[in-house]
Amino acid sequence: DDEDANPSVSPQGSVLGSWGNKKWGDTGSYAAKKKHHSWFQSSDGNWELAKILSISGTESLISYSEGKVLKVNSDCLLPANPEILDGVDDLMQLSYLNEPSVLYNLQYRYDRDMIYSKAGPVLVAINPFKKIPLYGNDYIEAYKSKSKDSPHVYAIADTAIREMIRDEVNQSIVISGESGAGKTETAKIAMQYLAALGGGSGIEYEILKTNPILEAFGNAKTSRNNNSSRFGKLIEIHFSETGKISGAQIQTFLLEKSRVVQCTEGERSYHSFYQLCAGAPPPLRALDAVHVSKENQENAFTMLAAVLWLGNVTFSIVDNENHVEPVIDEALLNVSKLIGCEADGLKLALSTRKMKVGNENIVQKLTLSQAIDTRDTLAKSIYSCLFDWLVEQINKSLAAGKCRTGRSISILDIYGFESFDEYIQDGIDWAKMEFEDNQDCLNLFEKVTYDTSGFLEKNRDLLHLDSIKLLSSCTCELPQAFASNMLSSSEKSVLGPLHKSGGADSQKLSVATKFKGQLFQLMQRLESTTPHFIRCIKPNNSQSPGVYHQGLVLQQLRCCGVLEVVRISRSGFPTRLSHQKFARRYGFLLLEHVALQDPLSVSVAILHQFDILPEMYQIGYTKLFFRTGQIGKLEDARNRT
Ligand code: ATP
Ligand code: MG
Repeated sequence: DDEDANPSVSPQGSVLGSWGNKKWGDTGSYAAKKKHHSWFQSSDGNWELAKILSISGTESLISYSEGKVLKVNSDCLLPANPEILDGVDDLMQLSYLNEPSVLYNLQYRYDRDMIYSKAGPVLVAINPFKKIPLYGNDYIEAYKSKSKDSPHVYAIADTAIREMIRDEVNQSIVISGESGAGKTETAKIAMQYLAALGGGSGIEYEILKTNPILEAFGNAKTSRNNNSSRFGKLIEIHFSETGKISGAQIQTFLLEKSRVVQCTEGERSYHSFYQLCAGAPPPLRALDAVHVSKENQENAFTMLAAVLWLGNVTFSIVDNENHVEPVIDEALLNVSKLIGCEADGLKLALSTRKMKVGNENIVQKLTLSQAIDTRDTLAKSIYSCLFDWLVEQINKSLAAGKCRTGRSISILDIYGFESFDEYIQDGIDWAKMEFEDNQDCLNLFEKVTYDTSGFLEKNRDLLHLDSIKLLSSCTCELPQAFASNMLSSSEKSVLGPLHKSGGADSQKLSVATKFKGQLFQLMQRLESTTPHFIRCIKPNNSQSPGVYHQGLVLQQLRCCGVLEVVRISRSGFPTRLSHQKFARRYGFLLLEHVALQDPLSVSVAILHQFDILPEMYQIGYTKLFFRTGQIGKLEDARNRT
């Protein structure tokens, strides 16, 4: 029994302040002791709170969950925080920052609908998967007037606005997390706050209205999230000198095109298709809000319908070499009518490919798989062009005639990354290099690397020149515009015009080039801002309220380095207690009676009696501030009595 061992804690909190799963005995200066609360990992992998009953040699006798007693190797135990720290709103305040302590603290709060916590500078948001009463005007007012300061997206947005005005520096709110973790909802909550504080001109409503429009065209039901964003989004909200919203610009990143033509069982294509089929889609009527003309709304509808009908175009074999032609049916005729071309032209574009061999132009007939590929690529291209076009219309509306002061807050809602392992491929190492070079904040984008590969794969196929020519020959306005966009962007690409470059590899590369360019631009833009980070966490995989899977949460906390951030931020004085609370809790330990004195005097007396070194604390007007671990020492004394 080491009951008499000196419980001293090293000044920099090398035990208490350490991250990683330091065991009780690891440092030699701090050992497991009787009565201590500990974490021990039960056979199902979950951590349970246990109390050490006795210690002999390397073994501890512990009691846990309602009186069960167990003998375990002391090395399997991790120190738990004193109860007084249960549910602290910043993980920095924990005396012991091991994984079970962090998990427990977040769960303690989550169980009480406190879904937001701070991890040093990072806001951690755990998806409640249910409505919680933390939003709306009353809350906005409370954060604005600072009568509330518990962790919240509103608090982050408030800081961003204030720092933008005070420092005259652009701000960004970077929201990351897995698919279904709550990024898009969080972005909307932040926008709601900015709109409420910076509103007045009415433009804020237009900005908020862009959400349902983009979601209709860019979100779909997946196995992870019923409303999964299949594109990345950066919205830059512009402010006047007085802090009023003057406009906004939206940038989107590679839409997942493949979803237009195929998706996994149980998943769906973009909401817009189902809305179109169900009748007048409300998000399209929302288009009024962002000043898209009735005619253009009609045009957009038409393109959507064309993509749908394209999916119904079928092929039949026409010769003994397995070449095919599209069946001239309702589907083919409707597509040609909708995009405004001759049915014959469409038929040709879907069944042949012009090629140059030497000096000769030849026409190659397509096999079934080639034809299906051509059809699908056309559908995907029309849809993604439609999406880009919509964003362009929205941007025109949000920018129209608004003065620009150069002040802005950008909100980044970057994709839900998933199943990285599947996607590892050649040719994308540039992404890794790019990201390794960048500074701290990029780490919080979760190492985008693995997933860009998924997006590249899914977006690899570019439209063949024959199809682009078909679109440019259409009598309708949008297909023409799409075609000219495609031609000009391919010409701009480093690889030169796509019809010259040929091969799948170079096509893949040109998408990579485009994406790389976009990301590079994004990084540049964010580099000049003061970033604020929100890390969304998904507590379970079934989108259920009230279910908290420790393992799943831990994996997300680990992968984005939230815990490292806390560790680094823990220099300074993370533990804070009011004089009242401190005096009440530890006053009775005083040897000399100083009762009837004010809490501050009691506090000072306690500090002296316990020889807490002056560099270990700061005395504020209302609170005491401690370096990591100091409270643990007092709690020990309390437990001994
Ligand atoms: P993806 O990467 O797939 O787009 P995401 O991180 O954007 O995922 P969201 O679409 O924001 O995830 O959230 C998924 C769902 O979780 C929402 O549709 C909503 O039901 C729920 N949700 C998220 N945040 C909240 C919240 N603060 N309050 C209530 N429900 C929420
Ligand atoms: Mg989303």
